[in-house]
Amino acid sequence: MITKYSNQKEQVKEDEIAQAAKEIQNGNLVIFPTETVYGIGANALDEVAVKKIFEAKGRAQDNPLIVHVASIEMVEKLVEKIGTVEQKLMEKFWPGPLTIIMKRKSKKVVPNVTTANLDTVGIRMPSNQIAQKLIEKAGLPIAAPSANISGKPSGTKIEDIIEEFNGKVSYILDGGITDIGLESTVIKVEDDKINILRPGKITKEQLEEVAKQVEIDKHVLGQISQDEIVASPGMKYRHYAPNTKCIMIYSQSEQKMIDKINEITNELQKEGKKILVLGRKKHINSYITPTKWNMGDTLEEVAKNIFTLLRKVDKENVDLVLIEGVGEQGLGLAITNRLIRACAYHYMIV
Ligand code: AMP
Ligand code: MG
Repeated sequence: MITKYSNQKEQVKEDEIAQAAKEIQNGNLVIFPTETVYGIGANALDEVAVKKIFEAKGRAQDNPLIVHVASIEMVEKLVEKIGTVEQKLMEKFWPGPLTIIMKRKSKKVVPNVTTANLDTVGIRMPSNQIAQKLIEKAGLPIAAPSANISGKPSGTKIEDIIEEFNGKVSYILDGGITDIGLESTVIKVEDDKINILRPGKITKEQLEEVAKQVEIDKHVLGQISQDEIVASPGMKYRHYAPNTKCIMIYSQSEQKMIDKINEITNELQKEGKKILVLGRKKHINSYITPTKWNMGDTLEEVAKNIFTLLRKVDKENVDLVLIEGVGEQGLGLAITNRLIRACAYHYMIV
């Protein structure tokens, strides 16, 4: 397959979006930017088209896709009803990085393959202009998981995406580096309570402005066994993980965290091992290893950089990667959720 590309970085032209929208209508795959990460999309209502996404990514069949819409009318066609809390969430956070799981209308409207046989469907209205226009021009809801081979970090940069998907999709719209860098917050409302199934840019603290009760699913930070039934099936898969062994190290005391990282580095360097440290910019000069990468200082910067850095880890040929933890406040919860998976649950709180 020959993949077509939009020409101008970050300034995709209307006719390029229109060509990509045609590909969606014809049942083909299009990679497009959203404000969170890049998506690999197909017509959510076309079973054959959606199957192509699973094939291209090597995604497990029981991992449902998020359906992207450009209007509330589109949502109404997909779900049984929009509840009061859901309505408030849409008003407050849409368009934006919040996916809402709702009861789907009928199997005839949204095919089983899109929802992985669940009777619910996850829906989101992206704020990215290219994504919005693509959905509008196609006139169809677009099912789109993150643009990465399953198990790899989500695609946030076009070069990484081309490496994995050139020749596997019909069109790639290049929107530059994605703004947020982490996938959307995924929630489900039950009895007026909001359950966070996957943390993201929209934080628990923000959701508490809409509902009195907001709970974090136990699988967000806990380990999951393969045969366990989880509210958000995607959470049980190996994700974001480099092949090199990684350990996340966190302490509420910055000095303790730095000391622990240096202590481990020192021990292993004596054995001739090479250590890579991923740390906050303000700490980077404190690390004794010669191989250290700056993750940024604010949580927003860390979120934006983390997948790009994790993707580069295996090329560095080190024995171990030590990654600074960032805590669980605000956007920290989403970063921590991705980091402990990248580290295959190897982490230390000191
Ligand atoms: P991705 O688009 O690759 O970031 O993955 C989508 C995430 O949303 C996965 O973790 C899915 O398990 C979750 N998801 C999508 N639809 C549903 C649904 N109907 N119920 C529960 N989780 C969902
Ligand atoms: Mg993904």
